Amino acid sequence: MNTFHSSLSRLVHIFGVRPSVLRLLPSALCLSLLLSACRPAQPVPLRVQWLTMGTFAAVQCADHATAPQARDIAQAVFDGLDADLSVWKPESPISAVNRAAGTPAALPASPAFAAVLRAALDTAALSDGAFNPLIGPVMRAWGFNGADARPAPPEPAELAAALALADWRSVAFTPSPTGATVRLPVAGMRLDLGAAAKGYAVDLAWERLTSAGYTNLLVDLGGNLRALGEAAPGRGGWRTGVRNPFSGDSAILASFLLRSGEAVATSGNYERFIEINGVRYAHIMDGRTATPVTGMAGVTVTAPDALTADILSTTLFILGPQKGIALLRQHPGCEVAWIPDTPDRPTVLATPGLAARLIPIGPCERSTPGAPLSTFRFTVPR
Ligand code: ADP
Ligand code: MG
Repeated sequence: MNTFHSSLSRLVHIFGVRPSVLRLLPSALCLSLLLSACRPAQPVPLRVQWLTMGTFAAVQCADHATAPQARDIAQAVFDGLDADLSVWKPESPISAVNRAAGTPAALPASPAFAAVLRAALDTAALSDGAFNPLIGPVMRAWGFNGADARPAPPEPAELAAALALADWRSVAFTPSPTGATVRLPVAGMRLDLGAAAKGYAVDLAWERLTSAGYTNLLVDLGGNLRALGEAAPGRGGWRTGVRNPFSGDSAILASFLLRSGEAVATSGNYERFIEINGVRYAHIMDGRTATPVTGMAGVTVTAPDALTADILSTTLFILGPQKGIALLRQHPGCEVAWIPDTPDRPTVLATPGLAARLIPIGPCERSTPGAPLSTFRFTVPR
């Protein structure tokens, strides 16, 4: 029996609506004023959320009056990018590129498509293919992305065939200010930008909102967040939670302040996975081996922009701390927290810049801070 699971959020803004609440929403649009945390001296931002790109989107605004218009601006951005980059929409340009695989046709890519593909191919090169934007056939081999349920894991020969189609080096991508083009040389190749597109969408919404004069808000697309200003005067940013991957609800292991301009993303093994013969397989594949990543429960990355945070959270989930720290040297301004898959003893391994501002929730032993990673070992299963 092969079951596909998806729930909604890994990163929960401290004042945010919990995903369990979202699942109860009868309609796609929810206006929520979060009164529960309201204290006279601490005005609570207004959160407006809706469903898009198969997940939830939200804006939180310190100035409540601006929330409906901010939502409209973000929604227009997300809808436009969904039409451009969704592999679920047959009419999208990315679907057209996938259909044309193996033909001589080099198809046009919008500036957004080109920017996401450029970043994805760069990260594939830096990670030696661990991150792989041609992961599509591998995802399908395991039963993801609309493929049939599998009675057993794919045989090595099937995985080898999928991996041969995931040759990201062979993508014919011609960037050009007057119109980029993309061609996949072999029939059956499939681009999958699911690990990067939401981050790009958050950046674009954040930029539009910033240039439209908005000052204090948080943009959220499926746990990819980017902050602008602060949640309330004097707060210095937006307090954000690192989700406990071992808890069924949206409990958090630690919180930290997300500063204005900064982005954060989380990749985890607990929201989207399949079960084959009772064994769970995460939806993140090692692009070098075509096998689902094991041993890691969650990775949270802060970065100067949401595209980088999104791509790196997936990549560092695959690479783990040892190889991940080497990759991080190429990305100044980024910080990481790894949560290995040890449910009995939840542990956060954080780079110094993030460790310095992490506030653990509940009792935990903290290693002496120092390079390259600080350890927060929670003393009771959470
Ligand atoms: P989310 O599903 O919340 O976007 P991620 O950002 O971690 O989580 O992206 C996971 C998605 O990325 C998968 O569903 C799949 O579409 C794609 N993916 C899986 N493995 C890889 C990989 N090795 N390289 C690039 N993309 C991947
Ligand atoms: Mg990602």
